[in-house]
Amino acid sequence: MHTYPDVKLFIAGEWRDAIGGKTIPVEDPATQEIIGKIAYAEKADLDLALEAADKGFKIWSDTSAFERSKIMRKAADLLRERIDYIAWLMTREQGKPIAQSKGEINNAADTIDWFAEEARRTYGQIIPARFGGVSNMAIKLPVGPVAAFTPWNFPINQIVRKLSAAVSVGCSIIIKAPEETPASPAELIRVFADAGIPAGVVNLVYGVPAEISEYLIPHPVIRKISFTGSTPVGKHLAALAGKHMKRATMELGGHAPVVVFDDADLEKAIEVSAAAKFRNAGQVCVAPTRFLIQNGVADKFIDGIVKYAESIKVGNGLEADVTMGPLANERRIPAMEDMINDAVSKGAVLKTGGKRIGNKGHFFEPTVLTDVPTSAKMMNEEPFGPIAIVNRFSTLDEALEESNRLPFGLASYAFTSSVKTAHALGQRLEAGMLTINHNGFAIPEVPFGGIKDSGYGTEGGSEAVEAYLETRFVSQMS
Ligand code: NAD
Repeated sequence: MHTYPDVKLFIAGEWRDAIGGKTIPVEDPATQEIIGKIAYAEKADLDLALEAADKGFKIWSDTSAFERSKIMRKAADLLRERIDYIAWLMTREQGKPIAQSKGEINNAADTIDWFAEEARRTYGQIIPARFGGVSNMAIKLPVGPVAAFTPWNFPINQIVRKLSAAVSVGCSIIIKAPEETPASPAELIRVFADAGIPAGVVNLVYGVPAEISEYLIPHPVIRKISFTGSTPVGKHLAALAGKHMKRATMELGGHAPVVVFDDADLEKAIEVSAAAKFRNAGQVCVAPTRFLIQNGVADKFIDGIVKYAESIKVGNGLEADVTMGPLANERRIPAMEDMINDAVSKGAVLKTGGKRIGNKGHFFEPTVLTDVPTSAKMMNEEPFGPIAIVNRFSTLDEALEESNRLPFGLASYAFTSSVKTAHALGQRLEAGMLTINHNGFAIPEVPFGGIKDSGYGTEGGSEAVEAYLETRFVSQMS
């Protein structure tokens, strides 16, 4: 049997308590028991982390890409070896079913491997010179120490993209990991430490998010920030980064449309989109939210998604047959109730779900609503929970108008057998990511990011490496 640890800060290669001795409790969202505590970093701890990241950067940026890659690949292997324990920790603190925790960890290991390889190919350019004896070179260098801020919905995967991209090119990093789900990220950091990454390259802190970001972002040691979370917080941090001329990657909220056309393979559309909707209890930035179904198949689609929602087994994610765990924290329950009451009061039809389950643990029924007016809160704000909104449309233009109505532009889904329709969606749907007839998101080698209010920058594929590099021009005469 595993035990849940008290989680410490990791600074300058050492696990340590906070200097001020303060801690924050950690709750199991399925049982509401307090299962552990984490060290709460204040300014003195952050100063140590900044000093460590500064030193770590000097050592690591001077280490060859080949050596960095070897250490990263060892970390990935250690992560795979320790998957049972780390998945147990993740499910205890976050709530998702154990199979989903394992999936997240395997994907994280693949991400580390992919960046380890990609960063060995950060080629610069030789530019033809105007005069003999001159070499014009554009060389790629790591941007410097990074500050990263990540949320609780994917405790490891939100960190691993930033961490792998940063360290693959020679940056050091201070990670402010989620206080709600701290132990599994700490184990991610541990595999890097155990694989031999030098002290100071990777640092881990927890505390009050606003206190940490307000201190780290303006600090002269930090040269780049990366944030994943809600749009309002992202805008605040992007403004702070702008004020201090820091480069930034912002992976923010979404409100993903799922457009299903009359000519789609309907069974597949239901299966793929409903699975994506209720995964991690809908607490996913790329989760389908607004299902837009063409009139000819709308009734059948609604029957299918309601059946799917009612077949989900909700419970403690540690139990083998459970397919949806609790919401990760208590504040999501009133958030769901408020959105559902608001929609129903404005004329939406509640087809299934809609209520909290029991009075212990943050369990909520998989919920489907139809005929939800655009004035409803849930049509404009990210529900971030197990709520599917199903509305109808008649033409492609109408579907596009609704898809593009919101300021968000993160993920989008479509189901159609028409090449012409698929092409039109690829050109006209305003989203950073579109997947057609399957769910193709979130593998390390493809872009991952949003447009409009969903942020900027990508956290997958070769551009994700570029985000941690700067281009230096060197012109040399022999
Ligand atoms: P929240 O806005 O309070 O926090 C979202 C995340 O931002 C958390 O991880 C939090 O620690 C962090 N954060 C908040 N203020 C910060 C600051 N000043 N500096 C640095 N980090 C800060 O919301 P919440 O209740 O935790 O989650 C609710 C909403 O957040 C959801 O509705 C969703 O829109 C968004 N969210 C998005 C993602 C994502 O994957 N994009 C993940 C989690 C939450």
